[in-house]
Amino acid sequence: MIIANNNAELKNAIDNAKSNHQSIGFVPTMGALHQGHISLIENSKRLCDITVCSIFVNPTQFNDKKDLEKYPRTEEADTTLLLKAECDILYMPSVEDIYPADWVCPEFDFGNLDKVMEGAHRPGHFKGMSQVVHRLLYLVQPDKLFMGQKDFQQLTIVRRMLEILNWNIELVSCPIVRELDNLAMSSRNVRLNGSERASARSISKVLMHLNKNQFASAKDFCQWAMYQLNLVEFVTAEYVEIVDTQTLQPISNWNEHKQLVCCIAAKVGDVRLIDNRIF
Ligand code: AMP
Repeated sequence: MIIANNNAELKNAIDNAKSNHQSIGFVPTMGALHQGHISLIENSKRLCDITVCSIFVNPTQFNDKKDLEKYPRTEEADTTLLLKAECDILYMPSVEDIYPADWVCPEFDFGNLDKVMEGAHRPGHFKGMSQVVHRLLYLVQPDKLFMGQKDFQQLTIVRRMLEILNWNIELVSCPIVRELDNLAMSSRNVRLNGSERASARSISKVLMHLNKNQFASAKDFCQWAMYQLNLVEFVTAEYVEIVDTQTLQPISNWNEHKQLVCCIAAKVGDVRLIDNRIF
């Protein structure tokens, strides 16, 4: 595995792959890697000749400074996991590589996509996320981009960004990888203590109760789920929303839509977790 610690080293490796006419798959991450990230690497390896994984904890997408400070950083373990997964290039840029003084970050208009759910609860998050993904794509020049359905709204916004840019990059959406008890894998899970970890199960549990035959409306389900989550020790639900998978807008009649997604954000102790289910 080539470890590129700066843009020049990355360019060298990318130029080499391109001159050999190899297709490039790209998996952007913030590190503290787990099996969810590795599943994206595996998908990329299946579909592309060369797989690039980036690890960059992007300061501009954290609206909460404490969350950024506490974000787990496990460089050595990450490198070992990527070696084992046979990733080809690991790119670990500095803040200066991503945000050089002369770099002008574009502003994207995502319409209503970034106004709801995470956008409403984490001001500035999607602006920071889209800017870093845009910059990384510019540097890596992949053929395919692999992202997880775990961050459903992020995936939808990146899809829109690629449409706006009209870049020839295929976005490949990968399913959520879960722990044995169904908790969605997340880098933040390591920050949960034993009791909080047990309580965190409630998030996927309420999602499993989602059933059109048992609830009169989407609103009924969301209210029930908020109530159930808030009954659980250490859990504070931020939102439970059922939205159209294309527009991300709340729906009034859940029988009129082909595909919906239920998205949840909840704090467990002081760890903020998200999960979702498409139905
Ligand atoms: P992060 O390091 O949290 O920014 O995530 C990097 C990529 O991994 C994003 O595309 C995430 O959606 C994806 N990802 C994170 N957790 C999971 C998971 N449990 N299953 C599948 N993909 C995931």
